[in-house]
Amino acid sequence: MTGEDMSSAQGASATWREPARELPVIGRPDVLVVGAGAAGIAAALASARRGAETWLVERLGYVGGLASFGLINLLLTLDDGEGNQVVAGICQEFVDTLGSLGAARRPDRSEWGSEDPEAVERWRNWGLIWGAPPESVRYSVAFEPESFVNVTYDLLEAEGVTLRLHTGCAATHTAAGSIEAVVVESKAGREVIIPTVIVDTTGDGDVFTYAGADAELVPIYPHQWFRMGGVTGLGDDSPMEGGIYFRTTDPGRVLVPWGGPGFAEARINPVDPVDLTNAELTCRRAVMAEVARLREEAPGFGEAWLDDIAKHLGITESRRLVGDYMLQKEDGGRPFTDSVAQTGHWTKRGVVYDIPYRCLTTPAVENLITAGRCISTTRYVHQATKEIPAAMATGEAAGAAAVAALNTGGRVHAIDVETLRLDLAAGGALVGGGPPADT
Ligand SMILES: Cc1cc2nc3c(=O)[nH]c(=O)nc-3n(C[C@H](O)[C@H](O)[C@H](O)COP(=O)(O)OP(=O)(O)OC[C@H]3O[C@@H](n4cnc5c(N)ncnc54)[C@H](O)[C@@H]3O)c2cc1C
Repeated sequence: MTGEDMSSAQGASATWREPARELPVIGRPDVLVVGAGAAGIAAALASARRGAETWLVERLGYVGGLASFGLINLLLTLDDGEGNQVVAGICQEFVDTLGSLGAARRPDRSEWGSEDPEAVERWRNWGLIWGAPPESVRYSVAFEPESFVNVTYDLLEAEGVTLRLHTGCAATHTAAGSIEAVVVESKAGREVIIPTVIVDTTGDGDVFTYAGADAELVPIYPHQWFRMGGVTGLGDDSPMEGGIYFRTTDPGRVLVPWGGPGFAEARINPVDPVDLTNAELTCRRAVMAEVARLREEAPGFGEAWLDDIAKHLGITESRRLVGDYMLQKEDGGRPFTDSVAQTGHWTKRGVVYDIPYRCLTTPAVENLITAGRCISTTRYVHQATKEIPAAMATGEAAGAAAVAALNTGGRVHAIDVETLRLDLAAGGALVGGGPPADT
């Protein structure tokens, strides 16, 4: 009987059985990272730097995810709001490299934690200050996305990561509690990768979903940020008038953070392609209306043009793993002995979360680690752990943990987490939980 013969009646419940077929195996890397957003980039670099054969696959034709052409070009935040740095490692390396290229702007260390109203106002104009008073200058960074992508390609190449763009993960095959095969799809058709350890940095938790792990998912309002060029009269200290928009490292260009409750038409299911398609159309129309309004009403925008609209719809929250531990509001300020990363909160001062290794793993799959915006937290804490610096920090931890698991036959629950913490700290990461045992 052919696949077509087995198709069922009609309607939404109709199914069609795909005939079984042989698929080519294109690689057997030590570590496969799926999704090249901020978290996946950090994971791949951390893995390759520890000597593992590392592959990074990405469904789109560019890297960075929301952090690049999602136009979320603000690192919020690497500090705790009181002047103390809480994220470093690979994220700090990006800040330094982008800064040396003139592609990043941030307050000096001497300003972090300052409540000086003038300084707060200056950095608010760059999109670096959010939240309720009393506000302080944060260690946050505005950056230029094309440079972020270029820096990423250079680093991936230098570290020997095998990058496969235009290649999406479509399925996994699990045997005896571990992922045996990852099915990817591209213009080359369906192909298979057989890795020892997999890192899911898809943002939407595609890999852990295909592998059967539990997740939480709620409807959300979409965003679509955009940039305008040719704005006149913009100085570092000139106030925003006629709208909300941020300075960028390019003269005359602003970043407009459009969307969310009160702006987007309706909440959507962020993993439903029909909802996503509708959101792309309605958000674009709304963006064009806002461009026209700014031209009409905002000082300096009369001759301004639309530079670009985010190519990556602004999905603040998608599937969150229900992992071995779910980080919650009450964990703010609580030290965890298995903490592998930490994060401040972009709207709150003095709040720091240790991120335990158990938030990256799931009881459902033995050789899978998660990082970035889909790790195991409640909605409340997700506000903090989803941010780009935190995503890079958990990505770095996941990449290093994946390499540690190569010595345990891919069993990510069997690694020595204290050794992992020492390894991460030696590489410049801030792991929280108090100093690692032998330092
Ligand atoms: C509107 C909005 C405003 C925000 N504001 C800020 C801010 O000001 N500062 C800040 O620091 N953070 C902010 N964030 C959060 C931050 O941008 C993201 O949470 C962060 O960039 C997530 O990084 P990630 O790598 O986990 O996921 P993503 O950036 O989503 O990357 C996931 C990658 O995986 C790829 N992928 C997905 N599925 C597959 C698949 N099946 N196979 C292969 N590849 C796949 C995607 O194409 C993408 O490249 C904001 C987010 C939104 C939406």
